[in-house]
Amino acid sequence: MVRVRFAPSPTGNLHIGGGRTALFNWLYARAKDGKFILRLEDTDKLRSQQEFVDEILNSLKWLGFNWDEIYYQSQRFNIYREQAEKLLKSGLAYTEKLPDKPGEAIIFKVPQQKIKMQDLIHSGIEFDTAVIKDQVLIKSDGTPTYNFACVVDDATMDITHVIRGDDHISNTPKQVLLYEALGFKLPKFAHLPLIMNIGGGRLSKRTGATAISEYRLMGYLAPALVNYLLLLSWSPGENRELIDIKEAIKLFDLTDVNKTAATFDLKKLGWINNQYLKNADSDKLADEIIPMLIEKNYIHKDGFDRNYLVSIVKLFQPRLLVVNDFADWADFFFLDEPNMDPAAEEKYLKKDLSREFTLFIERLDALKSFDIASIEESFRGLISELGIESKALIHPIRVALTGKTIGPGLFEVIYYLGKERTKERLSKFIK
Ligand code: GLU
Repeated sequence: MVRVRFAPSPTGNLHIGGGRTALFNWLYARAKDGKFILRLEDTDKLRSQQEFVDEILNSLKWLGFNWDEIYYQSQRFNIYREQAEKLLKSGLAYTEKLPDKPGEAIIFKVPQQKIKMQDLIHSGIEFDTAVIKDQVLIKSDGTPTYNFACVVDDATMDITHVIRGDDHISNTPKQVLLYEALGFKLPKFAHLPLIMNIGGGRLSKRTGATAISEYRLMGYLAPALVNYLLLLSWSPGENRELIDIKEAIKLFDLTDVNKTAATFDLKKLGWINNQYLKNADSDKLADEIIPMLIEKNYIHKDGFDRNYLVSIVKLFQPRLLVVNDFADWADFFFLDEPNMDPAAEEKYLKKDLSREFTLFIERLDALKSFDIASIEESFRGLISELGIESKALIHPIRVALTGKTIGPGLFEVIYYLGKERTKERLSKFIK
């Protein structure tokens, strides 16, 4: 049975790179009906923090990567010591006492040999261990080193496939030597390509090395982020960019993972998020949006019209890049007066439009039914009566009503704003 593991060190938040490694492990487990194991590599007592453990677990849950087993390395020190002592007994390791340190370190005698490693993503990798120094297994303070704890765990947890970032390729020959010394069976290795920023450099805070939890706060949807993480190193083929995780589980295999470095592109993530937002269930989206509107005092906890709100969510859905855009873009529906963009006001409302606005209000007043089609009809009638182009009036009306130059269709905006508010806002610009 396939058993894979994701092994984060809780010394920081879960970032894009870790999220991608977690995804490919989880996905492979689900694709092969195997087990996904979570292992917190918290041997560094000073740098590991509970706060990061919580953050990592919450992010994984949010992304939907449920685990089948969970382990903490800090609870397994006796297992590492036992294995290290085995190596001492067989003469493959030795102890060393440093003058100013309390205990003794256990050190592995690195045999000199050429190692051929198989990798499911990269082809065979060859390595000469002559360049590797003897390796500390257990430090004098009793903590195991990463390479040793990793091998002992992967072997005793029956991990069949080690799927992790390229940055661990250089650790792999050291680990292979330890497997051999301990008499453990080697797992298969699959090293995922590096993720770089658009400019070809390392991911930085500015270029996407942001915690998964921050993407959540910014208003990205979990399925959209997962879809994007997938594309970072895999493709469903035929230039497809949108793929549901359930379908990915059916199509995925490790051997199809890209060898070349991936590029993290925030624009593309935005595009994917918009695609998911477009198709999202408006009611569910409203559930995410309501707390944001309450916090901004746009609506009151128990005094708003939910159906009305859902209609407005529907109106904006096709345009949102992130959920949080809604509160900024739709603010004019909730404020007594729109937040006026000064440049837009200068551009479209400087000219005296008293006559045009008055005539438009008269037409709205004369409508038998205040619906989107009738509003549009009355507007078109006015344009032809005045003999002007529609854009000569559409932009000024939009700015007067919303304070902005862009937004959903104007007639829908007027409809949902309502006749009274529309008249009131236009009247402000009638001299
Ligand atoms: N704790 C290591 C890390 O976060 C795990 C590496 C591995 O998967 O072997 O990089």
